[in-house]
Amino acid sequence: MISFPIKESFYSIQGEGFYYGMAAFFIRFEGCNIKCDWCDTKESWKIKKKDFIPIHEIINHISNYTVKNIVITGGEPMMWNLYHLTKILKKKGYRIHVETSGTYPIEEKYMDWITVSPKKIKLPLEENYKKTNELKIIISNEKDFLFAEEQAIHVKTTNCFLFLQPEWTNFVTIFPKIISYIKENPKWRISLQIHKMLNIP
Ligand code: SF4
Repeated sequence: MISFPIKESFYSIQGEGFYYGMAAFFIRFEGCNIKCDWCDTKESWKIKKKDFIPIHEIINHISNYTVKNIVITGGEPMMWNLYHLTKILKKKGYRIHVETSGTYPIEEKYMDWITVSPKKIKLPLEENYKKTNELKIIISNEKDFLFAEEQAIHVKTTNCFLFLQPEWTNFVTIFPKIISYIKENPKWRISLQIHKMLNIP
């Protein structure tokens, strides 16, 4: 029986990126190979045996809701082989979004939208850039703009949206700088974490 370590799963509103404002069912996987200082989901890093949930239970939980958008996030969900889970969800008519750092191979056959958020500590696999629908760079300081540009070179800009997202704990300082940067470099868009700003449960 295939099972996965799930930190939490819940029905809410996508708060950031291209699909912000969209109702979605979130599945947050445990485990992360990066461990960013400013991570806002540190509680998902640890993989706990007791949190492994069989696929059929995950599907049953989702089926309690009418929403057809699934956001698979973490932690780092691509640490796990999601092929069977995404295949079953897809056959049931769900639209599958994945949020990843891009450091593991992405089996995208049953995925509809892939958000890659590269981290300097460990860069995405080269093969993953071309699968990226949305490149999301977290901006904590002005050096991160250079990193954003270095990462944008790798993606196909014709079918990949480019986002800069203020690092939450440094929002007040960095937000005006991101606005100025985007005005000068309009290929970028801003991604705001409205679920945090508006405390959306
Ligand atoms: Fe947190 Fe994501 Fe960084 Fe992992 S890659 S530490 S989940 S922000």
